[in-house]
Amino acid sequence: MNTEIIRKDFPILKQEVNGHPIVYFDNAATTQRPEPVLRAVYNYDITGNGNPHRGAHVLAISASQAYDGSKETVRDFIHAASVEEIIYTRNATESLNLIERSYAETHLKKGDRILITIAEHHSNLVPWQRACEKTGAELDYIYVDKETGHFREEDLAKIDDPRVKIFSFAQVSNVLGIDFDPVPLIERAHRHGAIVIMDGAQGAPHKHTDVQALDCDFYTFSGHKMCALTGIGVLYGKKALLEEMEPFLRGGDMIEQVKEQETTFAPLPARFEAGTQYTEGAVSLAAAINYLQHIGFDFIREQERKLTARALEGMKQISFVHIVGPDNPEEKEGLIAFTVDGVHPEDVAQILSADGICIRTGHHCAEPLHTYLGINSTCRASFYFYNTEDEVDYFLDKLAQVRKVMGYRD
Ligand code: PMP
Repeated sequence: MNTEIIRKDFPILKQEVNGHPIVYFDNAATTQRPEPVLRAVYNYDITGNGNPHRGAHVLAISASQAYDGSKETVRDFIHAASVEEIIYTRNATESLNLIERSYAETHLKKGDRILITIAEHHSNLVPWQRACEKTGAELDYIYVDKETGHFREEDLAKIDDPRVKIFSFAQVSNVLGIDFDPVPLIERAHRHGAIVIMDGAQGAPHKHTDVQALDCDFYTFSGHKMCALTGIGVLYGKKALLEEMEPFLRGGDMIEQVKEQETTFAPLPARFEAGTQYTEGAVSLAAAINYLQHIGFDFIREQERKLTARALEGMKQISFVHIVGPDNPEEKEGLIAFTVDGVHPEDVAQILSADGICIRTGHHCAEPLHTYLGINSTCRASFYFYNTEDEVDYFLDKLAQVRKVMGYRD
């Protein structure tokens, strides 16, 4: 594999901004789509579009095949035991909300605890506040060491509390970007009777994930962060748990039999997929998985590691740039949050944008983490396998000039 060839699949990367080639370093927000994914969607729409699971005609059947076939690709991708455990949603956020409504609200009671980390994205935090409001359970946090970004040892002991009924954490934080082994935490939570939810939004796109080996109870991710269309997400859940859960939305396609006053529900996974489903999204997700597997997760990780190491090395040479979380590339998963002395992150982003560089700024939907760290907002550069070392060098060059552009002398 080589990035020069790979980049030919991404027409958007050929664009120029103010005469500079675009440098897309906002992959943690959303990734770009390669032509094979777009072609798969187009081919489906011009040859096979229908309403899946409805009707016996040829296009209803081709739509069902496309939809169900993509589920099998997703099952294989995360190594779930069966397609009954794969529920399509709009995104990771909806997947987490589904767990909150259909599991947490019916299984928790006053005195129970939900444990998350301070590094969570709002989508793995705000739903749990609702669960607490509804059930009287309490929300508690594992905090991180402010210097290293790693979980504080003393806080990990919270996992051992038998009152913890749900333990939910990001596979990779979208701000700290730390790559850690979740298995000991999952085992520890299970020993004390909690169910474990992994928010894989920043994990699934970048590394091989095996939900059975992890033994997490739920796993969630979004297609748009891994080269698929926006609007398709995944909820994996262990079958035994999904089977005992209340349907999230009610309506067409999720039923077995409907009478005037009562309804019985369809078996998994249909009981959690009410209404006409986003078949183009499903097609795009399967095509994206096939594409990523063709590129190879070893290559993806190696490329991201190389880019992260080069960027960190260069950023450490710029005295006014401060990296949030660890600055050791071995611990990072392809994203770097940082601040610049005396320049607001919005200004940094605007200056870089004029040179064609796209980075993200703000609190990245992780406001409690920023508050805890005492920072209002940060800049974030995030890489994917189609980024190059030349792009990193260009970014470092422009970043080194940011203060000058703002009128500082150094
Ligand atoms: N969790 C993490 C760690 C994320 O980075 C994101 C997206 N920034 C989400 C959840 C939510 O993803 P989505 O907006 O696609 O639902």
